Amino acid sequence: MRIIRTAYEMQQTVLALRAQGRRIGLVPTMGFLHAGHLSLIRLARERSDVIILSLFVNPTQFGPREDLAKYPRDFDRDAALCHAAGVDILFAPEGADLYAPDASVWVVEEKLAAGLCGAARPGHFRGVCTVVVKLFNLCLPQIAVFGEKDAQQLRVIRRLVRDLNFPVEIIPGPIIREPDGLALSSRNVFLSAEERRQALVLRRALDEAERLFRAGARDAEALRSALRLIIGQVPAAKVDYIAVVDDDTLAPVQTLDQPALVALAVYIGQTRLIDNTVLKP
Ligand code: AMP
Repeated sequence: MRIIRTAYEMQQTVLALRAQGRRIGLVPTMGFLHAGHLSLIRLARERSDVIILSLFVNPTQFGPREDLAKYPRDFDRDAALCHAAGVDILFAPEGADLYAPDASVWVVEEKLAAGLCGAARPGHFRGVCTVVVKLFNLCLPQIAVFGEKDAQQLRVIRRLVRDLNFPVEIIPGPIIREPDGLALSSRNVFLSAEERRQALVLRRALDEAERLFRAGARDAEALRSALRLIIGQVPAAKVDYIAVVDDDTLAPVQTLDQPALVALAVYIGQTRLIDNTVLKP
């Protein structure tokens, strides 16, 4: 496995690989890898012959009061996991290499990014879209894999690729969970043992949404109230949002007669966790 630290070397390397006709698969991450990331590597492996995993804690997608400084990092462990998983190139650039101090061009998606995490975290998707475009230009992948765990991000990236004509196929990866249902996340490391237990309320709420839906519930507001009640019973939990939105447009829905995304963002103590499920009639 090769480790590349600069944007220039990454682009030169991939230009040579593309000239040899190689098919490049990109897995963008912020590191502190877990089994969710490893599942994305496997999906990339099935569809490409060179896998690039990018590891970059992108400062522009964090708000001023968010956890950029304390975001978990362990480069040596990540490199060992990548090596074992068959990653060909680990691209771990420095922030200063990726962003000029006077950078003035940004990529903004104006519809899908407006609600949910976009509303809760102003500027977040501007940072995400901009760094993803940079990674596409530096890694020149034919395919890129993104997890369903970040449901809004996946939809925003698909729209970005469509509207800016990127020759990149976006492959979604299913949410990987702990045996007890907690969605894997690098931020789970922040949870105390007690918070870790209380964090199961996200999965419990989504299970209840699925159960109610299967039992015939179709009123979105009633569904949100039921989820709010469940989450409200957990002392460490504070709801950031409970959204029931159209699976394509991410616009709020009143009736669940089209595929709907149920998305949660919940603080457990100081740690903000997200999870989601799609309800299909
Ligand atoms: P992150 O390192 O958290 O920015 O995530 C990098 C990629 O891994 C994103 O495409 C995420 O959606 C995906 N991802 C994170 N957690 C999971 C999970 N539990 N299951 C599947 N994919 C995940």
